Amino acid sequence: MHSKTIAELAAGLKKGDFSSEELTRSFLQRIQQFDPELNSFITVSEEHALTQAKAADAVIAKGNATALTGIPLAQKDIFCTNGIKTTCGSKMLDNFIAPYDSTVIRNFNQAGSVMMGKTNMDEFAMGSSNETSFYGGVKNPWDILTVPGGSSGGSAAAVAARLVPASTGTDTGGSIRQPAALCGITGLKPTYGRVSRYGMIAFASSLDQAGTFTQTAEDSALMLNVMAGFDEKDSTSVDKAVPDYTADLNKNLKGLKIGLPKEYFGEGLNADVAKVVEEAIAEYKKMGAEIIEISLPNSHLSVPAYYVIAPAECSSNLSRFDGVRFGYRCDDPKDLEDLYKRSRGEGFGDEVKRRIMIGAYALSAGYYDAYYLKAQKIRHLISDDFKQAFEKVDVIMGPTSPEVAFKAGEKSGDPVSMYLSDIYTIATNLAGLPGMSVPCGFSNNLPVGLQIIGNYFDESRLLNVAHQYQQTTDWHVRIPDAYK
Ligand code: GLN
Repeated sequence: MHSKTIAELAAGLKKGDFSSEELTRSFLQRIQQFDPELNSFITVSEEHALTQAKAADAVIAKGNATALTGIPLAQKDIFCTNGIKTTCGSKMLDNFIAPYDSTVIRNFNQAGSVMMGKTNMDEFAMGSSNETSFYGGVKNPWDILTVPGGSSGGSAAAVAARLVPASTGTDTGGSIRQPAALCGITGLKPTYGRVSRYGMIAFASSLDQAGTFTQTAEDSALMLNVMAGFDEKDSTSVDKAVPDYTADLNKNLKGLKIGLPKEYFGEGLNADVAKVVEEAIAEYKKMGAEIIEISLPNSHLSVPAYYVIAPAECSSNLSRFDGVRFGYRCDDPKDLEDLYKRSRGEGFGDEVKRRIMIGAYALSAGYYDAYYLKAQKIRHLISDDFKQAFEKVDVIMGPTSPEVAFKAGEKSGDPVSMYLSDIYTIATNLAGLPGMSVPCGFSNNLPVGLQIIGNYFDESRLLNVAHQYQQTTDWHVRIPDAYK
């Protein structure tokens, strides 16, 4: 049962092969068995899950099921959940119980899915390895000595080990695509504004976007059908009709124009990863796609621009955690200033503090023009590069990550080398474009991800392109031996 996709499980529920309660109990049992080692969950909401499963069974019995009714899912611990702890991977929010549901959670509740728990993540979604979590690192099911990627590492590891059929994540600079690649599963980051950010704890508001981790592109489409849509509670959510994302999955790819940015295949890319990605692209050629070399000339500026913009926004967003309104408060403060200083000093981890300091510096009078304004100008240039590219091609492909999963501890002392993990994903966020990572092979027995970037609101095409590849390859159904 645990290796089935959402589509297969939904068919089984409908036919009565098993109930949602049975399904939920069987995944809860896997979580109990495997998660003490993987550490992919911060909270397992067993009681809540069983209540939702029973309610789903009643809906199914009445014949009113949607594709997600009764399906167990895990939610990144960045989405506020009414009555269930939401920590964002931080000591700061270790005691925080939101009084409301984020829109993403509300949408899943309305669809009747079952929330199994909240997944582990880098603190406030800052990281590429899941090592900055207050709750400890997450292990990669393919090799427990390696990291699952980050910041949505718990969500990715849980799906890779088949502790849940699918999960949610958020992607500010690569936090869905990079862990999906490192864990050998399918990750989708939609266009900025496609999914509501309401109730999703903010890291960098102009970049954050919620998305999915699944085994297949078809399942990503089913998840996005539930998540996408306008929300008046999020002023950046876009009022655009939501198509049925499964409708185009079966279109054939003859004549599809695939752009390969030469900047994504140069120095810094592991040779083995490059080979695996090139083989995947050759597969697309066989399916009738046309390969066109393109250039995204400002690519090399994406990491520096991001590491000004994202910290600047986070320094402002995280000012709300002051020991007064939310979460952690230090013991016995002397006065108000001491309360602020010690609550923040004790509540935040090192990486979060580093970002707040960089951001406050970049925004300070006298430095604003030199850093923040300049980074915003670069952001424009990067978006323009993509606009020009999409005049010639339908999708852009390349590696998701420059290398496969690295060893825990390998980069945690070297922030710049950690930041470079997102060298191929960050530009997409700066431009607001949708992107996917699809399993496309192995190097050193560790999974490699193919990144597919689409034009604005072209998720249907991305899903179609990924789905067709998954019809002719089986990388996405591979499961690490210990979790078969
Ligand atoms: N790894 C990047 C960072 O640390 C991206 C994080 C994310 O997408 N949330 O900022």
